[in-house]
Amino acid sequence: MAYVIAAPCIDHQDQACIDSCPVDCITFEPGLDRKAYIDPDGCIECGACVNECPQGAIYHETELPGPWAVFARIDRAWYRDSDMARDAVDAAAAAAA
Ligand code: SF4
Ligand code: SF4
Repeated sequence: MAYVIAAPCIDHQDQACIDSCPVDCITFEPGLDRKAYIDPDGCIECGACVNECPQGAIYHETELPGPWAVFARIDRAWYRDSDMARDAVDAAAAAAA
């Protein structure tokens, strides 16, 4: 189980969450990613990042609103195949537009 960064982060990467994480498990590549990603294997479920996000983008994976459930898979995927995760982010953004 882990926290997950959902759709509201897309194109709003102010990075406030990154500095709040005590185990440095939030990452993205500037210029390549449209959102940040939480490493589900590193997240200790402390919740410290949640209130730091001005977009309200971070949820525990058990509490993700239904339309954003896919972001649990997207965050996990980024740490294995970042291009696949980026394609999924683009698709999610297009579907929400
Ligand atoms: S819940 Fe805690 S460990 Fe997990 S990403 Fe947020 S700050 Fe980092
Ligand atoms: S604080 Fe929120 S909007 Fe900013 S990078 Fe983190 S998850 Fe994205």
